[in-house]
Amino acid sequence: MPQDLFQSPDYFNLDELLTEEHKLVRQSVRAYVKNDITPVIEDYAQKAAFPKHIIKGLGEVGCFGPTIPEEYGGGGLDYISYGLMMQELERGDSGVRSTASVQGSLVMFPIFAYGSEAQKRRYLPKLASGEMMGCFGLTEPDHGSDPASMLTRFKEEGDHLVLQGAKMWISNAPFADIAVVWAKDESGEVRGLIVERGMEGFSTPETHGKWSLRASATGELVFDQVKVPKENLLPGVNGMKGPLSCLTKARYGIAWGAVGAAMDCYDTALRYSKERIQFDRPIGGFQLQQKKLAEMITEITKAQLLNWRLGVLMNEHKATPGQVSMAKRNACEIAAHIARDARQILGGMGITGEYSIMRHMMNLESVITYEGTHDIHLLITGMDVTGLNAFK
Ligand SMILES: Cc1cc2nc3c(=O)[nH]c(=O)nc-3n(C[C@H](O)[C@H](O)[C@H](O)COP(=O)(O)OP(=O)(O)OC[C@H]3O[C@@H](n4cnc5c(N)ncnc54)[C@H](O)[C@@H]3O)c2cc1C
Repeated sequence: MPQDLFQSPDYFNLDELLTEEHKLVRQSVRAYVKNDITPVIEDYAQKAAFPKHIIKGLGEVGCFGPTIPEEYGGGGLDYISYGLMMQELERGDSGVRSTASVQGSLVMFPIFAYGSEAQKRRYLPKLASGEMMGCFGLTEPDHGSDPASMLTRFKEEGDHLVLQGAKMWISNAPFADIAVVWAKDESGEVRGLIVERGMEGFSTPETHGKWSLRASATGELVFDQVKVPKENLLPGVNGMKGPLSCLTKARYGIAWGAVGAAMDCYDTALRYSKERIQFDRPIGGFQLQQKKLAEMITEITKAQLLNWRLGVLMNEHKATPGQVSMAKRNACEIAAHIARDARQILGGMGITGEYSIMRHMMNLESVITYEGTHDIHLLITGMDVTGLNAFK
C-alpha cells in the first residue's frame, strides 16, 4: 500500500493569508484524503474502477456543495474554503476531485441558482450528503469545444417534455441518480432539465479503455424519447449562460485542484531526491535535479498566489470568466509539466504505482482537456484582451 508522507509546500507563507476556518476546512479534507483516499486510490486506478464507497465520506467532510447555503444542506463556506477542499482532494486524485466538482459546481449549483424552490428542496440536501449523486450533460459526440451547436433537443407533449439526443464523456454518469442536461427547446434555446435514472428511454453506458482518470467513472447519456415531467425544467435560465456559469464555478475548483496534484508530485520528488543515492550522493545534490525542483516550487508558488487572489475576487463577486480561464489553464499547464519532471526525478520508480506521480500525470491529461481545453482557454484570454473572437 502506498505510504502518504505528504508535506504541503508553502514557500511564500500563504498560510498567513488564510483564516482559522480556512485552515480547519483544509485540515479536515487533508486528513480525510490521507486516511480514506491515498490508501486505496492506486488500486482503484489500476483496476479502472470508481471507489463508490468514498461517496458517504466525501459528503460527511462537506465536499459536495461547500458554497451552497446551509439551509439547502450545503456548507455555506466561502470560495477560498472551496478551493482548498478541491486542492486537497486532487492532491489525492484528480478523479476524486472531479466527482466532487461535478456534484457541487455542475449539479448543485445550477439547481440552486436556476431551480424552483421545490427543485431545491427536493434535490439539494440529498446531493449534499451524497445520498443522491448527479452528473452534468453538456458535451456531445459531435460537439465538444462548441457546445452551443448541440443537437440534443426536447419538445412539449401534454404535461411532459420529450427529450432526444446523446451526451458523451460525462463524469459520474454510470452511477448518477440524476443528470442536469442541457438541451435545445423547439425555438432553439438552450435549457437545463433534470433527468432521473429510471425514466424510460434514458441509459448511461460506461466509457471504457481510459488511460486517464481511471478511478473516475465516465459514460454517455442516451435519451431515446425520454418523457421528462415539465416540473423538471430549470425555470431560472435560458441560453448558454446556464451551462457556462456552471463551468466557471467548476473551472475555479479545477484551478485549485490541479495545483494540489502538482504539490503532491513536487513533495514526492523532493523527498525522493534527498533519499536516493547515486554516485555516492543524494540525487537532489545534482544541479540538474535542483533546477527541476526549483522551477517546480516557483511555479507552484505563483499558481497558489493566483488561486488565492482569484478566491478573494470570487468571494467579492468580482471574478470574471476570463480570470477563471487563465487560472484553470495556468494550473493545468504547470501541473502537467511538474508531474512530468517529478516522474523523471524518480527514474524507473516514477512509473510504478508505488508513487502517485504517474497517476497524477495521466489524470492531468484529462484535467487539461475537460471543461474547456488548454487551447480554448488560451482563446478566451486572447479574446478578453484583444476584444477579437478567434474561435470562428
Ligand atoms: C475524462 C473526461 C471527463 C469529462 N467529463 C465531462 C462531463 O462531466 N460533462 C461534460 O459535459 N463534458 C465532460 N467532458 C468533455 C470535455 O469537456 C470535452 O472533452 C472538451 O470540452 C473538449 O471537447 P472534445 O473532446 O470534443 O474536443 P474537440 O472540441 O473536438 O477539440 C479537439 C481539439 O481541437 C481544438 N479546438 C477546438 N476548437 C478550436 C478552435 N476554435 N480553435 C483552435 N483549436 C480548437 C481543441 O482545443 C482540441 O485540442 C469530459 C472529458 C473527459 C476527457
